[in-house]
Amino acid sequence: TIRDEPGNTIVTYDDKMMSDILHDRQVANQLEQAIDKNQFVIFLQPQVTSLGEVIGAEALVRWDDPKRGILTPGVFIDILEKTGCLYKLDLHVWELAARQLAAWKGTPFERLNISVNISPKDFYYVDVFKEFTGLVNKYDISPSKLKLEITETALMIEPTRQLTLIGKLNNFGFDFEIDDFGTGYSSLSLLKDMPAEILKIDMEFLHETENEQRSKKILESIISLAHELKMNVITEGVEYEHQVKSLRELGCDIFQGYYYSKPLPVSEFEEKYRDHVNK
Ligand code: C2E
Ligand code: MG
Ligand code: MG
Ligand code: MG
Repeated sequence: TIRDEPGNTIVTYDDKMMSDILHDRQVANQLEQAIDKNQFVIFLQPQVTSLGEVIGAEALVRWDDPKRGILTPGVFIDILEKTGCLYKLDLHVWELAARQLAAWKGTPFERLNISVNISPKDFYYVDVFKEFTGLVNKYDISPSKLKLEITETALMIEPTRQLTLIGKLNNFGFDFEIDDFGTGYSSLSLLKDMPAEILKIDMEFLHETENEQRSKKILESIISLAHELKMNVITEGVEYEHQVKSLRELGCDIFQGYYYSKPLPVSEFEEKYRDHVNK
């Protein structure tokens, strides 16, 4: 179902705004062509338990541009979001992730999950339930293998409608991860209502600042709160051994970050973890 996005307001344009809009529109056109030409690929970043076991990977989109090489989302996600085209890219990425899970069937990688990102706006442009149930049927994969990452923002507009949809997907067998937790607005009321399996703590809390002690206390509290609510915790952006060590002491369940690996092209991911998952 395609719906009007809330928050559309009437503005007056000046020349600068007009040229920005034209520029965004032009880039969005390029991006749409790139989707059609299959230039968007997924990279996989491992998710590792406190015992060192890889249990899954997050699929992160990359634009494999023939001229400029591999481009990260920072360059294009905002424009696609602004022009209302991000859902097209997300549909493509979800399909690639589902196809990858299907390709892993019968290989040592079949026990890994893949997490995909859902942009808050996708809920307005796409029938998310139909898409995901369609994908698991098409590729004959278990819905529990495809983890759905949403941010708190996704629930800020029309929370009741969103929670109903999430409940439906949950009943079908999909699990949710709350992404970038701690950076949005409605964190605690969200936790009350949202049936998520995993809480992903934003990497902001790992940054060394003069408030390091406070960050640590917050991390500790989020982790124990999540555990009280029977959720597992992933900390993102883990780069150093000392971070892993102290997060492990605080009870963090799963780690994702450059300390283990950067997001890798699928073939490199398989190469790097073949022996590991074979054990
Ligand atoms: P995210 O979902 O929170 O993904 C984690 C981001 O942190 C990724 O950036 C990842 O490469 C980066 N990261 C992981 N470990 C480390 C680390 O140790 N240090 C640092 N500094 N960074 C680390 P990436 O791939 O550039 O993606 C950025 C954001 O773009 C994602 O944040 C997500 O919000 C969005 N994104 C990525 N792929 C998709 C997609 O397919 N669809 C949508 N809608 N959004 C996507
Ligand atoms: Mg994510
Ligand atoms: Mg995140
Ligand atoms: Mg993020």
